[in-house]
Amino acid sequence: MNQIVLTGMVLSVTPIGEYDRRVVILTKEQGKISAFARGARKPNSPLVGAVNPFSFGEFTIYAGRTSYTIQSAKITNYFAELREDMMGAYYGFYFLEFADYYTKEANDEREILKLLYQTLRALGNPKLPNRLIRYIFELRALCINGEGPQIFQCITCGCTERPMVFSVKKGGLVCSECSGDIIDSIHLDQSTIYTMQYIESTKIEKLYTFVVKEKVMDELAWVMQRYTDVYIEKRFKSLEILETLL
Ligand SMILES: [Zn+2]
Repeated sequence: MNQIVLTGMVLSVTPIGEYDRRVVILTKEQGKISAFARGARKPNSPLVGAVNPFSFGEFTIYAGRTSYTIQSAKITNYFAELREDMMGAYYGFYFLEFADYYTKEANDEREILKLLYQTLRALGNPKLPNRLIRYIFELRALCINGEGPQIFQCITCGCTERPMVFSVKKGGLVCSECSGDIIDSIHLDQSTIYTMQYIESTKIEKLYTFVVKEKVMDELAWVMQRYTDVYIEKRFKSLEILETLL
């Protein structure tokens, strides 16, 4: 029998017919996959609690010729704290939808999976503001996808010495020599630049270990909102819902 075991997180679940579910899982081994969970909507099914958004664990899957079917699941983290935290859950759904948009089948998606896991854990930490978690997640996810802003040197000439401004359209810092034709420049506080450098370069496990002052938060918000507007074509439904609640 063609049975495989995949480790991953459930990104989304759609009802199919009367009793079944279609489940999208972001896995370590095979990138994003889609699988059927037969009978998963029957109350006595062993899959009923397992195949829900955020569930992370091992999925034993039957690989048929044209589709995958989940046979059993061993969930190690349900992120159950998000069930009691409505705002946290909305942020979580946005991160799932974001990860879904950026990932593909048969692609190495381990970095984004790791980021997603640490980000959902961070939502359960009452000391971290959800807004900050959002900007950290967005910025790092863009970097994983090769679309993050250049925040270490001038994007045009590579210089690190001259005074810099930030340009969303150029995609990062631009020095005083190169910034002549830039119309969307903004001056960022040095602390904001350090914060962005840290988010782009630190280990994923260490991303959610700091808070920032109001000024840095406001600048991060300014940059990330414009940056995602320009570089992400998709409008996320979960983000629209989230923004009506803020
Ligand atoms: Zn330059």
